Amino acid sequence: MKNKLLPLIVLSLIAILSTSCGMPIIGKHVQKKSGTSRLFSSTDSTFSPYVAQFESYAKSVTGNSGFSVGDVLINFGDPEVNTFQGVCYIYSNDLREIIIRKQWWDTAADSDRESLIFHELGHCKLDRDHDDEVNVIGGKSVKLSMMNSIIVLGTDYSNHRPGYLDELFNRNKTSVINAFINTP
Ligand SMILES: [Zn+2]
Repeated sequence: MKNKLLPLIVLSLIAILSTSCGMPIIGKHVQKKSGTSRLFSSTDSTFSPYVAQFESYAKSVTGNSGFSVGDVLINFGDPEVNTFQGVCYIYSNDLREIIIRKQWWDTAADSDRESLIFHELGHCKLDRDHDDEVNVIGGKSVKLSMMNSIIVLGTDYSNHRPGYLDELFNRNKTSVINAFINTP
């Protein structure tokens, strides 16, 4: 019994230590908020370059030259659950806002920041749920979507960004698989 429990305990610890999105791993993927008032009335300018980058990628990857993030606000705040570094709230009137934990942001690499913001925009703008599918590629477990409930970080993201972006906007997992085959 002890031996069977150990891997579970280790996996749980890894999950707790990893950067999670503000969605319960079990249950609803998007946090529905009752009420119709957002916490903020505009986006913190810290996030403007990431929104611009998201729009730029969306336009080039989807071919939709009119793509805009529009009325999705992003600000620093408390994602309410200790293991969550970001959250997408959707209010009862369908207004949306993203809250990012500043303590995480302040020490995160730029590519990791992008991965978290793009993941949250995946929920709040693209209406995507979590996708925790993995493949073993080159002996390593590879997340096939940046909508994984544990955020794709480090070289996993920075070395395979075009593949992940194609999956994010076009749901093309072959792009992620090929990216990892070409650059393990
Ligand atoms: Zn998420």
